[in-house]
Amino acid sequence: MTEELFRQDGYLSEFEAQIVEVKGDWIKLDGTAFYPGGGGQVCDTGNIGGFKVTEVKYEGEDIVHKVPGNEFKVGDRLWCGVDWDRRYDLMKGHTAEHILFNSLHRQDPDLEIVKIYISPESKYVIIDRDMPLEKIADAVRFANKVVSDNLPVTKSVMSKDDPEISTVRIKLERIEGNEVTVVDIGDVDRAACSGVHVMETSEIGTIFVSRKVSAGKDGFAVHFEIGDNGKTEAMDLAYRCMQIIDDLGSKPEDVIKTVANMKHELEESRRQLKSAVAASLRSLEPEVVNGTPVYSAVVPTSDKTPVMDLCEKRKAEGGVCAFVCKSQTLMVMIASGNRSVDCKRILADTMAEFGGRGGGKPDFAQGGAPDADKADELLSAMVARIRQSL
Ligand SMILES: [Zn+2]
Repeated sequence: MTEELFRQDGYLSEFEAQIVEVKGDWIKLDGTAFYPGGGGQVCDTGNIGGFKVTEVKYEGEDIVHKVPGNEFKVGDRLWCGVDWDRRYDLMKGHTAEHILFNSLHRQDPDLEIVKIYISPESKYVIIDRDMPLEKIADAVRFANKVVSDNLPVTKSVMSKDDPEISTVRIKLERIEGNEVTVVDIGDVDRAACSGVHVMETSEIGTIFVSRKVSAGKDGFAVHFEIGDNGKTEAMDLAYRCMQIIDDLGSKPEDVIKTVANMKHELEESRRQLKSAVAASLRSLEPEVVNGTPVYSAVVPTSDKTPVMDLCEKRKAEGGVCAFVCKSQTLMVMIASGNRSVDCKRILADTMAEFGGRGGGKPDFAQGGAPDADKADELLSAMVARIRQSL
């Protein structure tokens, strides 16, 4: 069994060890300060005897190190160095995760943790339910109070049968054996964990939640940054928000209300536009070509439903429709209740002319074209082809 030096001293980064097994790139030492990862935290990297360590993992009760290209032999004694900046960031991130989850849990006692991920590039917890941003902000304020209070982080071993175990955040079914390593953060948090932690909370510097995103069926991922990265991220985000506030002509204290009003106005305008479009479509007069009514128009909408409905109705009456819905791009629809008009072919010819794409059947076809300024031109070309067919 490899002696796990990181359990005795989480701050040990340089050590001497003896090689006890070499299997190609993978080597085993008599003792190691390389943390093999666990609890969502990625493993350490560094060097052994001047060769890079790219991966560390458990193999049964032993720990193996991947050292590509090594030329070691069993019995070699070597100096080993953990990449300390990287490892210290992971330790701080991991301890911050304990504090952050505790803080979120105070906002919602039913909250459960689904997954933890701590790497140099990305740190997040997945929680099983959504939480409004105001509550997350309160949790982050509390977490930073825990950091600035500089609470001690201590480790103890408890028996699974100890009545005190009820005070520990733990998934008992996941614990093998009878003993549980318990990590206390002052009197704020107590969790079962066998990972590596910092000794005092102030080492973390800052905890900043930088985003909350859906994690699908798992719930929501709460991404966070620590230390200087947390401060930088917070400032960058603050200045982006200030840019938006400036663009809106609002004030920082009013911006949430301003955006809510804008959303409301936008919804109202969309509703009005939709009913105006429906009214204009209802009163649309056809051009009659050899006895067949041909309805055509450029419609200023991104909602094609009322246009589709009209196409269906006029087609059933034996008419022909050609519509171009204009928003950022163009959506084109052609429907025909007259066998002389082949919608699929007319659409294909028109799309080829205007650089668009689409498809369909002889009685209905639809497509899209990129250039919104060409709406009238495109409609005229399509109607000309319909006239020729009739
Ligand atoms: Zn932990």
